[in-house]
Amino acid sequence: MSKISPTEIHRRDLLQTSIAAVALTLLPTVPAVARSATGLSEVAPGIFVHKGHHGLASTENIGDICNTSVVVGDEAIAVIDTSGTAKMGKQFLDAIRKVTDKPIRYVINTHMHPDHVLGNAAFRAEGTAFVGHHKLARGLAARAEGYLAGTKDAVGAENFAGTEVILPNLEVKDETVLDLGGRKLKLKGRPTAHTDNDLTIYDEATKTVFLGDLLFAEHIPTLDGSILGWLKLIDEMKTETADRVIPGHGPDSLPWPTSLDPLKAYLTTITTEVRALIAEGQTLSHASKTVGTQAKTAWLFHEQYHGRNVAAAFAELEWE
Ligand SMILES: [Zn+2]
Repeated sequence: MSKISPTEIHRRDLLQTSIAAVALTLLPTVPAVARSATGLSEVAPGIFVHKGHHGLASTENIGDICNTSVVVGDEAIAVIDTSGTAKMGKQFLDAIRKVTDKPIRYVINTHMHPDHVLGNAAFRAEGTAFVGHHKLARGLAARAEGYLAGTKDAVGAENFAGTEVILPNLEVKDETVLDLGGRKLKLKGRPTAHTDNDLTIYDEATKTVFLGDLLFAEHIPTLDGSILGWLKLIDEMKTETADRVIPGHGPDSLPWPTSLDPLKAYLTTITTEVRALIAEGQTLSHASKTVGTQAKTAWLFHEQYHGRNVAAAFAELEWE
């Protein structure tokens, strides 16, 4: 479970090569020092993104498998997600300290999944608030033991050292505005979609939206909430204004809102095909063999997650 196959590594390398080629063409607008010295990309003024590796947590990536970001205001900064272990959280913090020495006022977790929250311990400091959806604490506390044990198993005890669950002490129900000094972030607690505790962040200064795992690119989406809720939310979010989006998995920045289209198509296909099979009286085991088979070539980690997505959708749609 902690390793990926040689084929996937090959595909990942190909992807990284093509992404690197695209990134090169953007270099004139990006501070080269920041990118090369820290591994962070400045995707818009004052917004730095660390792109996580594609893969499941392993001894090689030490849980660094999702995108993490920082927004720099006049007085303070906000960190958005912290990687999957304290060790990689600390590496992210060290990278941040190469681009700014401003205090970290907020650590925002986009949702409860371990690759996004288990680096939190590296950011614990006086004056730093941990921010999450109002349902994050309940969801994460319920799964804490399993998340910690699973991560330790995947990355190894030494790499896991110092990793712990830190729950939010600032909760967002509907909307909250965080002020970094001359820069405001608008946070929205969303209804159940990828999980039941998805939080989005909008930077007014650059019209950048951070979606966490409400947007997957390249890496197959994973469903841990509601497929119908996610589809409804995608349509709602498409009407919201932004210039770019930072996905939870995939490139460090994507155009808005067209980058939601492959995700929407994938979830729509599953919904349509599962509904048809349920109407025919077919079983889950039949559905998991036949639904969305053409998606296989479009997404990384199809083998690991697609069957689970179909099972989750089947359980939800069966009771419509
Ligand atoms: Zn997630």
